Amino acid sequence: MKAYEQTLSYLRILKLKGAADRIDELITDAERQKISYMTFLNSLLSTEITYRITRRVQRNMVGAHFPSVKTMETFDFGRISGIGKSEVVNLLDCHWVDNQENLLFFGPPGIGKTHLAIAFGVAAVEKGYKVCFERVTNLMKLLKTSEIQKTAEYRIRRIMKSSLMIIDEIGYTPIEKREANLFFNLVSEMYEQTSIIVTSNKSFETWAEMMGDDVMTTALLDRLLHHARVFTLDGESYRIQHQRKEE
Ligand code: ADP
Ligand code: MG
Repeated sequence: MKAYEQTLSYLRILKLKGAADRIDELITDAERQKISYMTFLNSLLSTEITYRITRRVQRNMVGAHFPSVKTMETFDFGRISGIGKSEVVNLLDCHWVDNQENLLFFGPPGIGKTHLAIAFGVAAVEKGYKVCFERVTNLMKLLKTSEIQKTAEYRIRRIMKSSLMIIDEIGYTPIEKREANLFFNLVSEMYEQTSIIVTSNKSFETWAEMMGDDVMTTALLDRLLHHARVFTLDGESYRIQHQRKEE
C-alpha cells in the first residue's frame, strides 16, 4: 500500500496526471493479463501521451475563440458553387498549413464562408495545430490596444505563434487608415510563417476602396495571394432559405 501511495505521489510530482488517473486500471489489467514489465511501462507512458495530446487539443479548441463549432459533415455542398466536396476533403489533411498556404473565401452573405473557415480551423486544431479566429473588427481592436492592454497583447502574441489565423468578415465595415497600417504589418509579419484564412463579402478588386490606400492594399493582397487558394462562392443565402422554410 505504501508503494502504491508513493508511486501515485511521484506521478503527481512529475505531473504525469494522465498516468496517475489511470494507474489503478492499468495495474489491474497488467495483473490479470500477466503482461510483461516492458508492456506495462509502455502502456503507462502511452496513456500519459494520449492524455496530453487530448488536453492540448481541448486547450487549443478553447484558445482558438471559434464563435461556434462547425464541421464539414454538416456542410451542404449542393447549395453553392465555387467549392467542391472532394476539394475540401483533400484540404482537410492540412498540408496547406504546413506549407503556410492561405485560403481565401469570397462571396455574398449567408452562403457558408464563416462555416467553412471554422470547419477548416477545427480540423487543424484536431490535427494538433494552434489556430486563432478573429472577426476583422475585433482584430483591429486588438491591434490598436495591444500596446496598452495586457489581454490584447497576449492575444496578438498567440496569433503570431499560431500555425493558422482566421480573419473573418473583411469588408462589412470600413477600415481606418491606422487600422489598415496595423493590419498590413500583421499580415507582413505572418507572411510565409503562418497560414491565413480570410473571408470577405467584397471581391479583392474593391479592397483598395475599403482600405483607403491603393499601394498598401496591393502590397497586402500580394502577400495574401502569393501562396493561396481562392474560392469565389455563389448561391442563395442559407439564412434566407431557412427563414423561408420556417414561414
Ligand atoms: P457567411 O459567412 O457566408 O455569411 P455563414 O457561414 O455564417 O455565412 O452561414 C450562415 C449560417 O448558415 C450558419 O449557421 C451556417 O452554418 C449555415 N450555412 C451556410 N451555408 C451552409 C451550407 N452550405 N451547409 C450547411 N449550413 C450552411
Ligand atoms: Mg460570415
